[in-house]
Amino acid sequence: MKQCNCANEAAKKVAAAYSSYKNVFPPVELLSGRTYLNFTCEKVTKSGRMKQIEVPMLLTKCPFCGKKYEGDLE
Ligand SMILES: [Zn+2]
Repeated sequence: MKQCNCANEAAKKVAAAYSSYKNVFPPVELLSGRTYLNFTCEKVTKSGRMKQIEVPMLLTKCPFCGKKYEGDLE
């Protein structure tokens, strides 16, 4: 599946802007090539404590160029 390369290009710009940052990973899901947003949630554990978790949501369009991603989401 081929998507646009905007998120990877943005990661390169981040790496170029900060010379001490060596590996910049864009928020792209490997299987679909889609960018995702992480929602931070607080989950109640069995012991009754709150634990922060990240819930990713895949986007249907590229947030950089606006192009619709190819392929269906299940
Ligand atoms: Zn794009």
